[in-house]
Amino acid sequence: MSFSKLGLSAPIVERLAELGYESPTDIQNKAIPGALSGRDIIAAAQTGTGKTASFVLPILERINKDHKLRGKRIRSLILTPTRELAVQVEQAVKQYAENLSLTSLAVYGGVDSSAQKNALIWGVDILVATPGRLLDLAHQRALHFDELQFLVLDEADRMLDMGFIEDINKIVERLPEKRQNMLFSATMSDQVKALAKRTIHKPIEYSV
Ligand code: AMP
Repeated sequence: MSFSKLGLSAPIVERLAELGYESPTDIQNKAIPGALSGRDIIAAAQTGTGKTASFVLPILERINKDHKLRGKRIRSLILTPTRELAVQVEQAVKQYAENLSLTSLAVYGGVDSSAQKNALIWGVDILVATPGRLLDLAHQRALHFDELQFLVLDEADRMLDMGFIEDINKIVERLPEKRQNMLFSATMSDQVKALAKRTIHKPIEYSV
């Protein structure tokens, strides 16, 4: 398969060629067409399989920028278990979105939040966040979810292992009902399935 056959358009396909990606990985072949269709997806995939591009590329392709983003709004939220993963995923977003005019930001705990609040003032297209800090920023009214189009739960099993279930539930409660959800997890434990049942709507399921 080629990236264009998966349904991605020229600016993205050209960027992937620049990055030296010759063909999609297994999970990309499976999950990208499903996500591009607008359906919710659940994917069992380990780190190293190319899972990040499986959720980032469909967001880049489908994100709706018809309306000007209002202050403190975000169009996509990617939740990750750790600061390191948040930084890494946001770097991937920047790399893939190089030829597109989209903004992205990573926010995580353990550092002062004032720079993060400032960076949210004009709104951000794609926010990558750890759950605790995200909820904290929402409580402080540093961001609002009324323009959110996409929710990604990355490494869902690790987020649950780290005790983020309450935070995730509280975040999801605040999101608009109409949104596209994607859940990625290395393992599909009963806890992950329960989280998916509450959060994800009629998903297509994939595993690699
Ligand atoms: P991930 O599983 O998302 O952490 O990705 C693992 C590594 O594979 C990252 O360094 C990506 O840049 C790289 N990668 C992802 N998709 C492809 C692809 N289709 N071709 C070559 N490298 C890729």
